Amino acid sequence: MLTMHTRADMEALDRADPLRAFRDRFVIPEGLVYLDGNSLGMMPRVAAARAARTVEVEWAQGLISSWNDHGWIDLPLRVGARLAPLVGASADEIVACDSTSINLFKALASALALRPGRRTIVTNAGNFPTDVYIAEGLCRLLGDGATLRRVEPRDLANALDDSVAAVAYSHVDYKSARLEDMAGLTAIIHAAGALAIWDLSHSAGALPVDLDGAKADFAVGCGYKYLNGGPGAPAFLFAARRHHAAMQQPLSGWLGHAAPFAFEDSYRPASGMARMICGTPPVISMAVLEEAIGIVAEAGVDRLREKSTRMTTLLADLVAQEIGDSGLVLASPVDAAQRGSHLVFAHDEGYAIIQALKARGVVGDFRAPDLVRLGIAPLYLSHVELWEAVQRLKAVMQNGEWRAPRFRVRAAVT
Ligand SMILES: *Cc1c(COP(=O)(O)O)cnc(C)c1O
Repeated sequence: MLTMHTRADMEALDRADPLRAFRDRFVIPEGLVYLDGNSLGMMPRVAAARAARTVEVEWAQGLISSWNDHGWIDLPLRVGARLAPLVGASADEIVACDSTSINLFKALASALALRPGRRTIVTNAGNFPTDVYIAEGLCRLLGDGATLRRVEPRDLANALDDSVAAVAYSHVDYKSARLEDMAGLTAIIHAAGALAIWDLSHSAGALPVDLDGAKADFAVGCGYKYLNGGPGAPAFLFAARRHHAAMQQPLSGWLGHAAPFAFEDSYRPASGMARMICGTPPVISMAVLEEAIGIVAEAGVDRLREKSTRMTTLLADLVAQEIGDSGLVLASPVDAAQRGSHLVFAHDEGYAIIQALKARGVVGDFRAPDLVRLGIAPLYLSHVELWEAVQRLKAVMQNGEWRAPRFRVRAAVT
């Protein structure tokens, strides 16, 4: 039997919330309930100030001297070091650069090069499409027997052999929100002589991650989701220190060179994570990401996780309590410890439901074929907003608002 929750309970939870002050650090559009911080985080107020300083002072006045004077050239390693404690890495094991897709390419290629003679990459069929496509593209490029094998994490133990060089999984599944046992799976992967690559796109900034504790080999993740770095923010790449001396990646651009400004005729890799850098960093985005990571670090991932699990549980309970027979079926793990920071509900009319909800000022997203995905960004969401979201969802479901033809027109980005 569920305990009944009231709006007053949500107000009490907000008053007791140790993270409640962080909400004021973000621009929150009036009346909007934003349940999509797992796809594009909200804008920290400091982002506008930092971007303005970067363009108006550092760029406009300092011009090219700002590469030195304002430390632009150090941004990839500096932002990486700042992120490191949030994902259980050492400061010298992460670099912020490129996109998650490109970083995965570099990580996969590095892993294969570290396992000569092994030509198989393993991922799961349901992994985020770019993760699968990038692995396919690398196999096509390498040729010579390089293949991608699709194995679900639960079946991994029986699926590994000595052809497998690397296994690449998402820590939190972007659809179901299923949270994988990073340490357990990494141990299985290592026992088979392969390397473990983790995609932290849906976990960095939302829950504690212990890359070093789990003995992960490589990891990648997004800067614009729970880290709130802004649209197209740089991603990050982790490599365990034990691989630094031997690892090599094929996008051997000049800023990953040991001496970029010696302009030598041939490539020599920089030491450490710097060799994972390819070209010039996007300075404005990088500066904003640096500020955004600072806010997450201040809040602390343990407190964020505690609030997030409470909120995903509340959301599931409120949907059941307020709109029990709606046809929305929880398609995320029921146990909060087994999931990340979003929930999905299956419904044949999921797309139209998300559109109708948006018309009522609640932004979630739709994931094909039938998932209504509601993200919980614990840094700035309030408990009363959860209550509000469920009341508006109730109106959409009980009045059948989603049946309106305009809610069935598909946009390019869902
Ligand atoms: C969001 C996400 C990406 C995004 O990759 P980009 O290169 O930034 O477009 C990749 N992988 C996973 C698992 C994601 O959730």
